[in-house]
Formats: sequence, structure tokens, C-alpha cells
Amino acid sequence: VRELTAMGVAELCRRRDAGEFGSEEILAAHRFRIETVDAELHAVAHHFREEGPAEGPLRGIPYLTKANIAVRGRPHDCGSRILAGYVAPFDATVTARLHQSGCSLVGSTNMDEFGMGSSTEHSCQGPTHNPADRSRTPGGSSGGSAAAVAAGMVPFALGTDTGGSVRQPAAHCGVYGLRPTWGRVSRYGLTTFASSMDQVGILARAAEDLPLIFSVIAGVDPRDATTRAPELTSRIARRFTAPRLAVDPSTLEIVDDEVGGAFEAFVRDLESAGVRIDSVSLPSCRVALECYLVLSSAEAASNLARFDGTLFGDRVTPAQSYEEMVRMSRSQGFGAEVKRRILSGVFASSAGEGAIHAERARALRRQIRLEHVEVLRECDALLLPTTPTAAPRLGEYEDDPCGAYEGDRLTTPASLAGLPAVAMPISRGPRGLPLSAQLVGRPDQDEALLDLAIALARMRSEEEPH
Ligand code: GLN
Repeated sequence: VRELTAMGVAELCRRRDAGEFGSEEILAAHRFRIETVDAELHAVAHHFREEGPAEGPLRGIPYLTKANIAVRGRPHDCGSRILAGYVAPFDATVTARLHQSGCSLVGSTNMDEFGMGSSTEHSCQGPTHNPADRSRTPGGSSGGSAAAVAAGMVPFALGTDTGGSVRQPAAHCGVYGLRPTWGRVSRYGLTTFASSMDQVGILARAAEDLPLIFSVIAGVDPRDATTRAPELTSRIARRFTAPRLAVDPSTLEIVDDEVGGAFEAFVRDLESAGVRIDSVSLPSCRVALECYLVLSSAEAASNLARFDGTLFGDRVTPAQSYEEMVRMSRSQGFGAEVKRRILSGVFASSAGEGAIHAERARALRRQIRLEHVEVLRECDALLLPTTPTAAPRLGEYEDDPCGAYEGDRLTTPASLAGLPAVAMPISRGPRGLPLSAQLVGRPDQDEALLDLAIALARMRSEEEPH
């Protein structure tokens, strides 16, 4: 018999409806799992004792949200000391929608402070460990969510993805991760990092669960004016019998042998299953990471100005003046990575040299989007590895922030272009570490992209012995 904690959302619902078990058993099994494994992994930042509604199609399905997504009456620290003790006064739209569908929110997950980081080590709560190898990071910034899903604590979790924070931890933990098209999912109740790129995303064990949860959280929200509903035609599920994918060979130049070998084997498998793979070139993507760091830091510097000890953020007292209070509150409240981003972001937002960098980055961003749109006119999706390496060791980049940023080189292009992207596990390397590939789709065609991911996952599992 398969354990309840090894099943995905769709399977749990099917079997619950068939009377194999009830909602209470699903919840109890996952609660027990959290109790037994989280002491070592530390994926959960705050435990909520919530029973969840008894009604709804997803009744009994437990999930975890990321600690930067608001839940009324619950701690909302975004992994930051400056928000220690802060309690959210309202629900994010995504959590409200999941509640309406019957899901039970069992807690919030550990994360890099305000989403800045790729390892979940930059958290006021201490690091999360990778379930595949506890001496390694789960990736980040949604590392707690990825580790929890991989370890069977919940069948799915919410994360947020600005430059890769859903896809990269999904890759390192061996689960599926969706970053939706910017504007398809409401950001109301999400504490902003970089407004023009932030999106709520989903981490799940089964590919088929992504469209299921996406259909619950996506859609127009009067509280987020950037949300839209695309034309119905793009939402109709597609059947991919002979998909056409595009690969830019230059993406393989920056990955290590372990990732490159697994990716090439995946491509060969897909080709022998009838998938057509074209070679394309997206030259501007080579500098997407640099472009992302300039733009996201500039936005972050402005967005994080609200944490100054007056309305938001822990106030440090006594201080001789208002300025001193702000300086002390921010100096003590923010961690080193957040300070680095604020400093470089203020530089990029200032006149002179900074403005030149920012203008170049904006032009590059437009170019990156154009190159994607051009390639996606001919192909169903772009295929590339999700990360350049498997999960790094804890502490590996302690004194090398630029080395850590390199982990985002393959996820930042879709973020800048505002396109939907999904990370899917493809195999395990010789050390047993999960390896992943990423599909990037056409704007607003998230449903079609997910259909494609499911089709590719199926082709894979048909070949492998169970
Ligand atoms: N790892 C990237 C960064 O540090 C992306 C973070 C994110 O998507 N929130 O900025």
C-alpha cells in the first residue's frame, strides 16, 4: 500500500472520494509526518493548528504556505528578524481561495529573508536541510516549501518566485515547481520583494497537481490591479501528441557535468518518444542574471523602505532621534544579504552611474522578452536545465555571494520576461541528488504549459520500470 504521505493531491482526492480513507486520516498522516521529520529538516517556520473546512473539493488536503504570504492572525516574519512577532492582519487572496476550496493550512515555511537568497540559509530562523542529503541546502528562497513537499509533510506548498525561488528549490529537492505568468495569480497579501517579477508559485510532488492548485489560486482579483484573465482560448487544455521544444545549446555551457549529462539523457529520451527538439539562440539570456540583480535590487530597496521601525518592523529603542531609531532598527533587523541588496539597489536607483546601469538593464529586459516571444512563436516551450549544479552544501557560499547568485542564471530569464515556467524532476545524479529540467511557455498559456509538463513526465515514466 502506498503511504498517504507519498501521494499527490489528485490521487488523495480520488481515493478519498472512493472511500478508501477520510479527510481526517489524510490530515493526521501528514501531521504525524511533520512531527517525525521536521525536527531534523526544519522546513516549517510556524505551525498552525487549523482543522480546515469540512466542505470543498480539496477538503482534508493539508498544505504549507511561505512565511511571506499573509494569513490572518498568524506570524508573518518573511524570514526576517525585523518582522519577528508581527502578525498578519488579513488573508492573502491565495490563502483565502485555498481555504474556500477546502484545504487545511498547517503552517508556514522557512525562507531566505524577504525572498533574497538561493539556499534558505539567510533566514532569522536558521537554515533548512535538504531531505535528499541533510548536509546540503534545499535551495531557496522557498526552500522550506520544497523540503516539506519532498519529505512528505504536505502534498503541495505555496512559494514565491521572483528570480527562481520556486523553480530552483523544486529542482534541488526533486519536486515540481510552477512559476505562473506574471499577473495570473494575485499578489495581494504577499510581502513584496521586486513587484515587477514577484509571483506566487506552487510546489508539488505530482505534475498533475499543478493545474489543479493553479485553477484554485489563479484569476482576477479586485485587490491586485495587475491580475488578468487571459482569453479563454489560451486556457483550453491542449493535447500534446507531438510537442515541439526549443533548446539553446549555450545553456549547457554553464552547467556542470552532472546536470549536463542528465539533461542530455532527458533530451534523448524525449526525442525517442517523438518530441521534436529545435536548436535556438537567445543571446541576451546570458546576461539575464546581471540584469535581474540590478532591477530586482532597485525595486527591493524601494519596497523595503517601509520597514523602518515606525509602522512596520521591530523598533529599536531608546534612540536620540528619529534618524537614529530608523538606522538602528534597520541595522539590527535586516540580515547581511538584504543589506547587500538594499545598498546595490539604492545605487542602481540613483542618478549618474547607477541610472546608466538601470537603463541598460531595462533595455536588456525588453530584449530578453523579445527573444523569448520570437522562439516561442515556433515552439511549444523552451527547454533548459533548471540549475547549473545539484544542491550545494550548507555554508558553501557563505563568503561568496556572487557564487550563490550563479545558481539563478537559468531561472532569471523567464522572470524578466514575465513568462510561465515549470521545473520538473528528471533524474538523480550519482550522489543521489535530484536533477531538474525547466520548461518555459508562452505568456498566459500556463494551462498549456502544464499539460505539456504532464505529457513529458508521462513519457518518462512509461519508459522507466516502476
Ligand atoms: N535567488 C534569487 C535571489 O536571491 C531569487 C529569489 C526569489 O525568486 N525570490 O534574488
